[in-house]
Amino acid sequence: MGKRLSLPTKILIGLFLGILVGLFVPKEIATTYFQPIGTLFLRLIKMVIVPLVLASLVVGASSVGNVRKLGRIGGKTIGYYLITTAIAVTIGIVLGIVLEPGAGLELPVDAKYEGKQAPALSAVLLDVVPDNPIAALVNANMLQIIFFAIFVGIAITLVGKAAEPVKNFFDGFAEVMYKITGIVMEFAPFGVFGLIVPVVASYGLDVIAPLIMIIIAVYLGCILQMIIVYSPVVKILGGMSPLTFFKGFLPAQVVAFTTCSSSGTLPVSLKCVEDNLGVHKEVSSFVMPLGATVNMDGTAIYQGVCALFVAQIYGLDLTAAQMLTIVLVGTLASIGAAGVPGAGLIMLTLTLTAVNLPLEGVALVAGIDRILDMARTTLNVTGDASAAVVVAASEGDLKIPSDNGVSA
Ligand code: ASP
Repeated sequence: MGKRLSLPTKILIGLFLGILVGLFVPKEIATTYFQPIGTLFLRLIKMVIVPLVLASLVVGASSVGNVRKLGRIGGKTIGYYLITTAIAVTIGIVLGIVLEPGAGLELPVDAKYEGKQAPALSAVLLDVVPDNPIAALVNANMLQIIFFAIFVGIAITLVGKAAEPVKNFFDGFAEVMYKITGIVMEFAPFGVFGLIVPVVASYGLDVIAPLIMIIIAVYLGCILQMIIVYSPVVKILGGMSPLTFFKGFLPAQVVAFTTCSSSGTLPVSLKCVEDNLGVHKEVSSFVMPLGATVNMDGTAIYQGVCALFVAQIYGLDLTAAQMLTIVLVGTLASIGAAGVPGAGLIMLTLTLTAVNLPLEGVALVAGIDRILDMARTTLNVTGDASAAVVVAASEGDLKIPSDNGVSA
C-alpha cells in the first residue's frame, strides 16, 4: 500500500465522514451512539489544560530570563489582539450592511431574552489576581492561572540556583502533558467524527434556511479575516508563508470547529504552534493561553453581524456613532467571552444593550448558534496562532519549519 495518512488528513477525513453520516442518521441515534465518542475525546483534551498551562507558562516565564522582555512580549501580544479584534468587528458590520441578513425576517411573538450586565472594569482587573491559586486551578480560571504562573516564573529567575529544581520539575511536567496531548490526538479523527455527527443530525433545513444569510455572513467574515488580515500579517511580519501557517495549524482548527471551545482546543493549538509553526515555548506558552481566553476575532465578527441583523429585523437604521459603539463594545464583549461553547451568544446581549437594540432578537440567533459558534471558534484560535507567529518573529523566537513536517 502507499504512504500512511498523516494525522491532519485523518482528522479531516473524520470531519467529512461525520458530516456525511450526520446527514443520514436520526438525531436520537446520533446523540445516543455518536456523541459519547466526541465527549470522550473532549474530556481527554480538557484533562490536560490546567496542568499544561500552569507548567508551560511557569517554564516559559522563567526561561525569558528578563522581566523587560516578558513585558515587551505582553505589550505586543495585547496590542495585536486589540487591533485585530477591532478589525474583525468592523468586517462583521460591513458584511451585516452588505448582506442584510435580517432583511424580511420577523421575530416570533414569544421571543424573550435576558440581558447581561457589564461588570465594572476595576472588578474585571482585580479578578485577574487570584486570592487562592489552588482555587484558580480547581476552577480552571485561566486569567488567574496565567497571572500566578508568570509570577512564579519570574520569581524562579530571581531566586536563581536554589529554584532550579522547581523549574526542572515544571519543565518535565509540561513535557509529560505534551506527551499526553500527543497520545490523545491519535484519537482525534474519531473524536471529531463523534462530535460533528450529532450537530449535523440536529439541524434540519427548516431551521437553517430562514437564517442562511446570517450563517453566510459569519462564515464569510471568518474567511475574510484569515485572507485579508492573518495571511498578510504572518507573511509580512512573521516571514511565514500563509500556506505553511494554515497547514500547520489545521489540526487545531478542526478541533476548534467541532468542539466550539477555544479553551478546550488549547492543548492542541499550543502543540501545533510549537511543533508545526516553530514558535518558541517562551512566546507560545504566554500568547496561546491568553489568546484562548481573551482574543476572539470570530466572536467579534459575530457581534458585528448580529447587531446589524437585529437592527434590520426591527427596521432600525444605525447611525455612524452607533456603529462605532458596536466596534468598541463588540471588542470588549469578545474579550469578555469565555472560551466555551455559546459564550459569544451571552455576550451579544452586551453589545445590543450598548446601542439600545432589543434583546429579543437574540432568540432568533440562538436557534442556530452552534453552527455560528463552529466558525467563530475556528477563527478565534487561528487569531491566537497568528499572534504567536508575529510576536515570536519580532523577538527572534521563530524557527520557520522548512519542510513543514506537520504532526499535530
Ligand atoms: N465558543 C467560542 C470560543 O470558545 C466563544 C464564543 O461563543 O464566541 O472561542
